Amino acid sequence: MLNLVLFGPPGAGKGTQAEYLIESFGLNHISTGDLLRSEIAGKTDLGLEAKKFMDKGELVPDAVVIGMIKSKLDSNKDAKGFIFDGFPRTVDQAKALDELLNNNGTPVSGMLSLEVEKQELIDRLMLRGKSSGRADDQDQSIIENRINVYNEKTLPLIEYYRPQNKHFGINGMGSIEDIAGRLKAVVSKL
Ligand code: AMP
Repeated sequence: MLNLVLFGPPGAGKGTQAEYLIESFGLNHISTGDLLRSEIAGKTDLGLEAKKFMDKGELVPDAVVIGMIKSKLDSNKDAKGFIFDGFPRTVDQAKALDELLNNNGTPVSGMLSLEVEKQELIDRLMLRGKSSGRADDQDQSIIENRINVYNEKTLPLIEYYRPQNKHFGINGMGSIEDIAGRLKAVVSKL
């Protein structure tokens, strides 16, 4: 079983690259951002609560996203493996994921960290905001906040996975195909 954590700042291309990896390795895709947006679209209590944080570019509380991951894992017991996209985003989420996966006997195989320069992130997000309609992609100050939150709360995860030899830094600049090729080369060896 292959469990991949696709990691990187907002705009690093995690969603786009997840599509390539799903195709190549037949994995289930779990994006907490997508799950939260579908809760918002369904106007559920969880969605309405999460929206307050997402609109500001803040993280949704750990307990909420961990609960969503748990139910996804429980309802996909036959999966060949998972790509976690946008999760974990805090050390507590990473610990919870380890616990959930260890209960199934299938730990995280690797953390693939897409590295992209800050200005490129902002440019990509502003461009995406024009077509996706995502409010958090259309306002430069919200984008900057999301990048700051990433640097403060999410980047330390590299030091969580590195001592376990599970951190793989990947150059996330260049064409989508080139980046996909770099990712596949790393994943094939896991
Ligand atoms: P994303 O689609 O991954 O860029 O996520 C959009 C927004 O959803 C983020 O800015 C957060 O507000 C929220 N979110 C997504 N995943 C998580 C997570 N693992 N932990 C906390 N908040 C999250």
